[in-house]
Amino acid sequence: MVSSILNDIKNDAPIGLGLISGGLDSLIACLVLKLQNIEVIGLNFKSPFCICDKAYKNAECGLNLYYDKLGIKTYYLQKEDDYLEVIQNPKFGYGKNLNPCIDCRIYILKKAKLFAEKINADFIFTGEVIDQRPKSQNLKALRIIEEESNLKGRLLRPLSALMLKPTILEEKGLIDRSKLLGIKGRSRKKQLELARTHGILNEYNACGGCLLTEKEFANRMRDYLKFSKNPTMEGVKLLKYGRHFRFNGAKIIVGRNELENNFLVHLKEPDGIIMEASDVKGPITLIQGNIEAAVIKFAARLTLRYSDAIKPQGEVIYGREPDLLNEHLTVEKATQEFLTPYLL
Ligand code: SF4
Repeated sequence: MVSSILNDIKNDAPIGLGLISGGLDSLIACLVLKLQNIEVIGLNFKSPFCICDKAYKNAECGLNLYYDKLGIKTYYLQKEDDYLEVIQNPKFGYGKNLNPCIDCRIYILKKAKLFAEKINADFIFTGEVIDQRPKSQNLKALRIIEEESNLKGRLLRPLSALMLKPTILEEKGLIDRSKLLGIKGRSRKKQLELARTHGILNEYNACGGCLLTEKEFANRMRDYLKFSKNPTMEGVKLLKYGRHFRFNGAKIIVGRNELENNFLVHLKEPDGIIMEASDVKGPITLIQGNIEAAVIKFAARLTLRYSDAIKPQGEVIYGREPDLLNEHLTVEKATQEFLTPYLL
């Protein structure tokens, strides 16, 4: 039972499951506990919203490299389709864009609680710091997160612990409160100092960020949720590639480079029409949704616009199979003014 982790904490050295993001704070939270000989296990949540160049090439984001150095085994879980419900209806609202940070923390802590049970961890901790983020890491938000994830009194925040009520672990003497920290605010001076002192500064590799906080991506996401009958995390991945347009109920995605063109061509289920310029180099365009003559013409004008075509008019080819583009159409290139109102 999960509740056992948090109701019957063992009386010997406990095992802590830490939420790790790839940032400095969670790394230092782990270090602080390791320094008092607590066994620490890491848990990292992945999702298409995660901005991490390394994740592009390495699903594990390079995290294991530096957590290995601290002797910390790291597990990875995916945020699943149920996370889309969190984005659509966050109980505690959004940050500056479509980022439901408080609800997001609650979501991952609930999942972490289940995971902790599976691996017999005794408690959960995070790298949260009071007042580091105005909306999701103030004192009130930290309390809400703890209560809503059913971890009241049992969620350790080693970096700000001295500014918070002692957890049950501290009260029982299983964690030495005097060795925890009392950091507050945005400065990372103390964390950097500790990283330097313990020789892990080079391991700090700020890979992080969340696309839901970005205006352009948030617009694409709102559009996706509005038009998709069955939104999925798999479907979200497509929002990361290409220029996106919404025209007459159709979605038109235009590749910006070779990598994006390849991605669009090799989609398992493109569920639409693939288009490219006939005789010149240019983008792969994917058209989904309400495919009608006006949409195909619009997409053709965009495709030419972003191609190497010099003349104002040109031909595109298109079809349902990337290897069989047997339809063609001659159109004029779109102008910037023409396309801007449809750009997501
Ligand atoms: S920034 Fe994104 S990943 Fe981080 S808490 Fe907010 S919604 Fe979740």
